[in-house]
This record gives sequence, C-alpha cells and structure tokens, in this order.
Amino acid sequence: MTDPTLRRPAWPASQVRPLVSPLQPSVVYVSPDPDTLDAQYEGRVPGHVYAREGHPNADVLAGMIDRLEGATGGVVTGSGMAAVGIAMLAALKAGDHVVGGDQLYGRSLRMLSEDLPRFGITTSLADPTDLAAIEAALRPETRLILIEVVSNPTLRVADLDGIARLARARGILLAVDNTFTTPRGIRPLAHGADIVIHSVTKLLAGHADATLGYAVARDPALNAAMKVAATTWGTTASPFDCWLAERGLLSFELRYDRAEETAARLADHLAGQPGVRRVLYPGRADHPDHNRAGALLAGRFGNMLSFELEGGRAAANAFTRACPGLAFAPTLGDVATTLSHPASSSHRALTSEARAALGISEGFFRVSVGIEPLDALIAEVDAGLASAREAAEAEC
Ligand SMILES: *Cc1c(COP(=O)(O)O)cnc(C)c1O
Repeated sequence: MTDPTLRRPAWPASQVRPLVSPLQPSVVYVSPDPDTLDAQYEGRVPGHVYAREGHPNADVLAGMIDRLEGATGGVVTGSGMAAVGIAMLAALKAGDHVVGGDQLYGRSLRMLSEDLPRFGITTSLADPTDLAAIEAALRPETRLILIEVVSNPTLRVADLDGIARLARARGILLAVDNTFTTPRGIRPLAHGADIVIHSVTKLLAGHADATLGYAVARDPALNAAMKVAATTWGTTASPFDCWLAERGLLSFELRYDRAEETAARLADHLAGQPGVRRVLYPGRADHPDHNRAGALLAGRFGNMLSFELEGGRAAANAFTRACPGLAFAPTLGDVATTLSHPASSSHRALTSEARAALGISEGFFRVSVGIEPLDALIAEVDAGLASAREAAEAEC
C-alpha cells in the first residue's frame, strides 16, 4: 500500500480570489481528460501543461510588459541574454548576416562575434549613432540589425529612426534592446522596430533580486517562433523570479521617474566639481547626442550617467572606498544606486587602446541612479571626490 501522506493534498475551494497573484511553482498541470488536453494545445481553452512551455506567473509578467511596450504576445525568459538568444534563434538561419551596434552589452557582442558564426551566421559591428556606418555594413544577406538606444557606458544615443527607415526599406528586421531606456523612455515598436528585448533583471524588476528577460515581436508569427525557441532551448523563467518581478513592476514608473530626476541633478552637480574631467548624461546640453536624445526620448533621459575622474586608477580606487553608500557592483536598475568601473569589469577584456577609443579611461565610472534622496547621493559623491582628489595629487 502506498503511504497516503505522499498523496498530493487538494487545493481548498474558494469563491473569492486573492488580490495578489499567487506564486505557482508547479512544473506540471493535471488535465481532466485527453479531449481537454487537445483543446488546450489547440488554444481553444486556457490552461498550462508543463512549466517549460509556459506558466501563470510568466504569463502575468509578460502581459504587464506587453502593455508597457504597447505590444502583444511577448515571451518572458530566464534572463535578458536568453531573450536576446531566442530572438536570434527565431529570426535567423545559416547564411544570414547580422549587423550589431558596436557598443552592445558585452554578452550580446560575444554572441554576435563568437557564437552566431559557429552556426553559419556572419556578423558585423557598426556605430549606431552613424546611419552611414550602419548602411555601409549591410550586405544582400543581412537579415537583422541589433541595437540599443542608449549605449553602455558612454550613453551614446543611436539614430533609431534613421536605422528603422533603412531596415524597413531593405526588408531587414530591426531588434532593439530597450533595457537602458525602458518603455518609459521610448517604445521602440512605435519607432519602427520589429523586435524589442529587455533584461527585466534591471530597471523593470528593479530590486536586483530576479534574473529575467523579455522579447516581443511586431509579427505574431515571429512571436510564435520565439515562444517555440524558448520552449525548445529551455529558456524558461522561474515562477518565483516572475512573481518578484511582478511586484517590482508595480512601482516601476514611480521608481523610474524618481531616479531619472535625481540622475539629472546629480549629473549637474558632478559637472561642477573639481577633479571631474567630464560628465555624460544625455539630458545635458554638453552630451554629444543631446539633440537626438531630446527628440527621440521626448525628454526622458533616464537614470544612467557616467563621469570621468582625473587621476586614473588611484583616484578611482579612492573614490569607491570613500563612498560606501554607492554599492560598487556591476549591475544597473536597482532601487539603490550602483557604481560600475568599466575598465575593471564590463570592458576589462578590451585593450587599453580599444577602451581609449571608446573614451573609457581608468577614471571612468558609470552610475545607475536609484531612488535615494538626492542629498544623500551628493554627500556620498562629494566624499568620494575629495578622496579621489587627494589620491590624484599624491600620484603627481
Ligand atoms: C544586463 C543586460 C543584458 C543581459 O541581461 P541579463 O538579465 O543579465 O541576462 C542585456 N542587455 C543589456 C543592455 C543589459 O544591460
């Protein structure tokens, strides 16, 4: 006889529904009979079968991000890179060529330059702020262009409208990684993008406690192909991460607006301080792409800023040690402000010449501004700058 304690307990019946989405970790769903299962697989009745193919917490989250992006049918994945991956798997085949922005997220760059070529897909990189450079990179077999609207870490703004027109005219798919700008900054589908990708890990979930991605296409057939790729290649998101992200997303707009306002003020503060060589924020008139940012982002310049200290690595070390309230951690989009040093993290694999060409020196920092009060952040950076100036003087 089977031990009855191993039987699954029945879920209590209820006439009411919970206000908050339940967390549903079940891997599998029980059907009443094969006819119902048929009907489910054919989309005639709602329901789930096996979690890798989809589960309620992912559906709820996908619907929320769909609404933010003005899209339908988006797919939630286990990470931002999984979302980039399923877009490539669904859209490309051997013999195709891809043009990528030359300042894409590091792992996306690696996917394009090392991984896709192993599957017979050739790739080129070009500067997306320069429409002529993108056009020059196109080939007859170019199938897809992948760009980010605002680049990491120099916050250059792509010529999205120009690239979208070019892609449309040539019958090429345009995929936009909207992680930095978020749908609060721009909705790429409205600008002619065919695919929008997110690392939900960052600003959308917003609490640095869930690793997730999202991809959506304008064309329902491409959405369906991404869903198949996600199921086949197993990029499924954890229900718990989706549940956390749903909660995080409820405050996304408030968090974004607050962080953006603080970022603009912090950028202006930094620009006036001795020992700061330059500040990069698309909302500042001295940013190289300020005019394009103003037109494209409609005044939504985001929570990311970068700055460069005088005094190189010694000043950079002194800065991070003297402002422990700014977590020195290579992520972005958390409720707390985080500081990253590209020369020792995201861009460490580049030669110092390649970094210099991008404008990334040893004194270069990227700041993901969180929701703390501006005064608290100014106190932190001022302490950091004082210490950095001492270190820079000691170096001379
Ligand atoms: C972080 C990030 C990714 C990758 O997302 P993960 O969730 O870490 O896999 C992709 N693109 C951009 C712009 C990112 O910042």
